[in-house]
Amino acid sequence: MSDSCSIAFIGTGVMGRSMAGHLLRAGHTLHVFNRTKSKAQPLLDAGAHWHNSAGSAAAAGDFVITMVGFPGDVEQTYFGPEGVIARARPGAVLIDMTTSSPLLARRIAEAAVKRDLAALDAPVSGGDIGAREARLVIMVGGDEAAFLRAKPLFEVMGKNISLQGPAGSGQHCKMANQIAVAGSMLSWVEALAYAKRAGLDPARALESISGGAAGSWSMTNYGPRALRGDFQPGFYVKHFLKDMRIALEAAAEMKLDLPGLACAKKLYDRVAARGWEELGTHALYRLYTES
Ligand code: NAP
Repeated sequence: MSDSCSIAFIGTGVMGRSMAGHLLRAGHTLHVFNRTKSKAQPLLDAGAHWHNSAGSAAAAGDFVITMVGFPGDVEQTYFGPEGVIARARPGAVLIDMTTSSPLLARRIAEAAVKRDLAALDAPVSGGDIGAREARLVIMVGGDEAAFLRAKPLFEVMGKNISLQGPAGSGQHCKMANQIAVAGSMLSWVEALAYAKRAGLDPARALESISGGAAGSWSMTNYGPRALRGDFQPGFYVKHFLKDMRIALEAAAEMKLDLPGLACAKKLYDRVAARGWEELGTHALYRLYTES
């Protein structure tokens, strides 16, 4: 176990509640805030301390971890009047694990330095299952000294942990991840829609193709859920659309054309237009199989 620290954890949704739970069980003192208090209740029952704002929680931590939804939520959490930047203790390490924009990560790092704080962007991959099983991939941007201080905490939540470069680099790496995920979601959804239309048993077809050259994490983990008709998130459609928007904007700034990603984004726009934004990303299968 790493030395016991005082950690503020802001954002206890699908991912945050599991990640914070691991830190608590590892013996750290946890100070939590979430927009909807009831979602933090299991952590409070297990011994975490409740705070009424992000800033109040941040003021109690040597480390401040945020796992909120969208860049706008990150902006509010860090720069709002009761925000993390204003209230964190000098010397604290701020770690944003939300999937957010590389540009915003750099702004946070710049603001942090001015207040004698360190900041890391550390988005994750591995899904709700990876969070529950503490097997997340953690992609980090920021300076090495802060990374080394935070590493024992990352090791409680994940397995494949790497410093990718300066502030914003963790988010860029996560965007590369999401570009690959977009392609793999399309590939297995189209394969299973085809198998079904051809009169095959899609579950049996999935079993055959998932272990071969066509297999992927998305196919193995989300394919069976889609075939069972279980579209609970998992990973929300609304968050995947946010990621694809960030990636397309970042690519456009770098003058890089990503036609495959643009196609995936259009298909997911249609998923959202059907009212399925709050479902898991495997709801794409419904677009192909329900008229
Ligand atoms: P989620 O269930 O919506 O959790 C986000 C939590 O943050 C919610 O409980 C939300 O409060 C809270 N929140 C939002 N804004 C806040 C604010 N200003 N102050 C305090 N709390 C705030 O989403 P999630 O699935 O855990 O995903 C979190 C992030 O991880 C997203 O950026 C997502 O893209 C990324 N991610 C998700 C997965 C996955 O498989 N789920 C995998 C990798 C990365 P409410 O309870 O009021 O909504």
